[in-house]
Amino acid sequence: SKDAGGGHYHAYEPQLHAHAEERRVIEIALRKAIEKGEMHLCYQPVVSAEDASLTGFEALLRWTHPEMGVISPAKFVAVAEEARLIAPIGEWVLRTACEEAVRWPSDVRVAVNVSTEQLHDSNFVTSVISALSHSGLPPHRLELEVTESVFMREGSGAVAVLGQILDLGIHLSLDDFGTGYSSLGYLSRTRFSTIKIDRSFVQGAARNAPESLAIVRAIVAMADSLNMTTTAEGVETEEEYLMIRRLGCRKIQGYLFGRPMVDTEARKLFSTLTRS
Ligand code: C2E
Ligand code: CA
Ligand code: CA
Ligand code: CA
Repeated sequence: SKDAGGGHYHAYEPQLHAHAEERRVIEIALRKAIEKGEMHLCYQPVVSAEDASLTGFEALLRWTHPEMGVISPAKFVAVAEEARLIAPIGEWVLRTACEEAVRWPSDVRVAVNVSTEQLHDSNFVTSVISALSHSGLPPHRLELEVTESVFMREGSGAVAVLGQILDLGIHLSLDDFGTGYSSLGYLSRTRFSTIKIDRSFVQGAARNAPESLAIVRAIVAMADSLNMTTTAEGVETEEEYLMIRRLGCRKIQGYLFGRPMVDTEARKLFSTLTRS
């Protein structure tokens, strides 16, 4: 916070207030958002680095508020977590992603983001099982994306919960790898299929930044030796794609190969991107 002495304090206070007010407004609207049908999912293609064939989609949540317009999950997921609304929202996301993916014309995977708060909810595993059984989606077609922060809380049981998820035949991926709390020890206790390399390293590597190059090389080498695959996130340019492919990354996600799109648009991609 700003220096408490001097005139800065008063300039800072109204801003703090506006922030809290904004959160309150979002929270109230969020409570009604699902029943009002204001949420939908977009799907972003994930392709093979080798031949650009489609390997799956990541489901990304979208909230269109009648007055505020489209609100980014980057903004409302944190509010939902604090207001204890992430469990019902996360349940809706899981159910919807499974129901839409089961109707796709090919058996590619759908990846669903799971927030750390949601994973620690006691009903989490039950809601995953119910999303699978209601939709009929085979477990091996579902991938759950978690971040390193799930391992931060001591005694939270994250390893056990993730173990139950793996026992169901669901895949796990480690999202935003390298940007949060690093706890490499957990990589040996939880069987992740995929490590997702954050966009910041992708950009750095394409600019030939030595640190980013070293980090991407190290992640790819580690993933290879642990029998995991790697997905580079946020690939926007041909240069980024070529560099990432040269560094041995297996899968690519980013605007270069497709922006997040609604289900009906995603279906059209199958004919053009799927190996025949
Ligand atoms: P994330 O899981 O890291 O998702 C990737 C984000 O990068 C998405 O932002 C995606 O639209 C964006 N992106 C993809 N390709 C590119 C690219 O080439 N360039 C750039 N600049 N960006 C790209 P989005 O959809 O706004 O989601 C933001 C974050 O919100 C996600 O980050 C994820 O942490 C969270 N989120 C999204 N959907 C859900 C959800 O259903 N549940 C939970 N708990 N969190 C979600
Ligand atoms: Ca993700
Ligand atoms: Ca990510
Ligand atoms: Ca991210």
